[in-house]
Amino acid sequence: MTEGRQLSVNEHALVPIEAPRLARTEPSADESRWPDERMAVALQMTVEAMHEVVGFETVSIGIVRDDRIVTIAKAGTGPFIHGPVTHGLGSDLPLGPIEVLLARSEPLGAWRHGRADHAVTTDRADVSAPAPLRSRLIGPYDTLLAPIHDGQGRLRGVLSAAGGLPNGRPADNATCLKLDTYAARATRVVLAALEHEERREQIRLLESARLLVSNVAGTNSFRDAFELAAPILAAAFRLTGMRLAAFETEQVLWHGDAPDPASHDDYNTHLPLRRRAADSLWSEQAVSIIGLGQETNVRTTPERVAAIKQMLMRTGLDSLMLVPLGAADRAVGALWLYRGTGHWTDHEQRVLKDVGRDLGRLFVNAQALYAEQRLAQRMQELESYKRTLISTISHELRTPLAGILSNAEFLVNAESATDIRRSAHAMARGAARMTGLVDELLLIARLDEPSRTCETRLVGLAEVTREAVELHRPVSERADITVELSADDSVVLGRREDLMVMVTNLIGNAVKYSDPGDRVRVEIERREDTVVLEVADTGIGIEPNDLERLFGEFQRGTDAATLARPGSGLGLAIVDRIVRNHHGTVEVESARGEGSRFIVLLPAAD
Ligand code: ADP
Repeated sequence: MTEGRQLSVNEHALVPIEAPRLARTEPSADESRWPDERMAVALQMTVEAMHEVVGFETVSIGIVRDDRIVTIAKAGTGPFIHGPVTHGLGSDLPLGPIEVLLARSEPLGAWRHGRADHAVTTDRADVSAPAPLRSRLIGPYDTLLAPIHDGQGRLRGVLSAAGGLPNGRPADNATCLKLDTYAARATRVVLAALEHEERREQIRLLESARLLVSNVAGTNSFRDAFELAAPILAAAFRLTGMRLAAFETEQVLWHGDAPDPASHDDYNTHLPLRRRAADSLWSEQAVSIIGLGQETNVRTTPERVAAIKQMLMRTGLDSLMLVPLGAADRAVGALWLYRGTGHWTDHEQRVLKDVGRDLGRLFVNAQALYAEQRLAQRMQELESYKRTLISTISHELRTPLAGILSNAEFLVNAESATDIRRSAHAMARGAARMTGLVDELLLIARLDEPSRTCETRLVGLAEVTREAVELHRPVSERADITVELSADDSVVLGRREDLMVMVTNLIGNAVKYSDPGDRVRVEIERREDTVVLEVADTGIGIEPNDLERLFGEFQRGTDAATLARPGSGLGLAIVDRIVRNHHGTVEVESARGEGSRFIVLLPAAD
């Protein structure tokens, strides 16, 4: 993230902020300067000829830029139609009053005659103008105006001349003809220059778009692509800021001079609306503009439009363009482009629509690549898990196997019946341990089968737990450990056999990790939609450092008191799987030397 140009990432929790005032984009140098020197010379020659040959006091040519008219050529010293004489070239005034004046004036060949008493006031108090001219666009003379229209009939400029002629209009036909020739020449040059300028602008935008595509094509991360694309787009389209939202991941990225003006609005609330708007725009291959002076393809409610306009006004912006980012038949996200000033041209709209398509495709590719990478990573994890598992299982089997082998050797040479019995018992214990381990491993494998969760029925947890307590009774009584059960008639949906294993493992551990005189308390209670099963003991407890990992395979406590008791480290891994298969959770609380408490939460079945 760089200073000034700020890029922030908000994951759906957008923090409400004070709406900032964004800087208005100043018109670029190109906008006020005439783009083509030769044409500027030709126009200057026209106005000077009219001034010197025809005798007008002041002659000027203005071209239309958005809703303003900018003076690009002038001759003479009187006040100008496009601004007082004190204004230099490039000074501009609102277009509205000039349009009114043109409508009120009388036709005169290619010209129109605007009388001084038609003087139009401007809504803008031009403080730099001399006081009498502040509110008057023309005058004190009559003015001749030649509107310059393009092929589509749009007003693109005005040639105006004032003063120097009696009654403000040509006295003879020859002068009329001469004036028509000047008007035709000015029209030709202005339209040619504007067309030339438009073509240059189109080339510039296309080049930016091409640069953008080539820059981001090699990036695999969508965020990287945005970081690369945002400054290019911002410069090419004179943006004050841009926001990108990816619908699937609800990722929001922002690039701009000031904080995102819309960051205070609740992204998630408007998400369905935004999705629909983007989908509809994408299906029609269109962009939408909401602005103070321009509105195209609006796909939202009048209330939202009003709210957006207010936000624009508050932050000193003119308009917002919504560009859908799409691939195939759906919109995957949207770009919000903010502009401080200036109309969005048709060409800009077309280029930005293509940019949306390129970014959308890139986004889908990035997502596919991400999924692929995740899969590859998962495969690697599985591979390493498999290696660890094989070596741990081999190690776990080797210990009892070594005992069986050494006792078998001992048995071959045993002489007394007592020795034979002792070795046979040891071998049976080793074999039982191996069988237990293999059984647990097979159970883990079965629990991981996806179909395991499908066969379910209503199971009374109290009845299962009572059976488990009874199962442990001989061991607990022999060890002088009391086991108490208090249970309501809670019912859960699941596999009885698995729930039995889960409860047996927890009670078995509670007994195993307790000493004579300790107590084990098992409680089952329904709390609202949840059945809570608690197995608490006053036994040896668990080291705080061990707590985190005990639900993993082959994980055992590390303290001597634990390791002195037999175990494989698979019991809690099995508990965890069974609980998860039943859409529940299991937690443990423990204090060393004070005992442990396992809490299982399962959804209650009614
Ligand atoms: P193990 O075969 O070692 O008992 P488990 O997976 O059942 O394997 O338990 C993992 C570890 O969790 C045990 O080694 C022990 O350190 C700890 N543990 C489990 N239950 C208790 C308990 N009730 N009291 C103290 N420690 C326990």
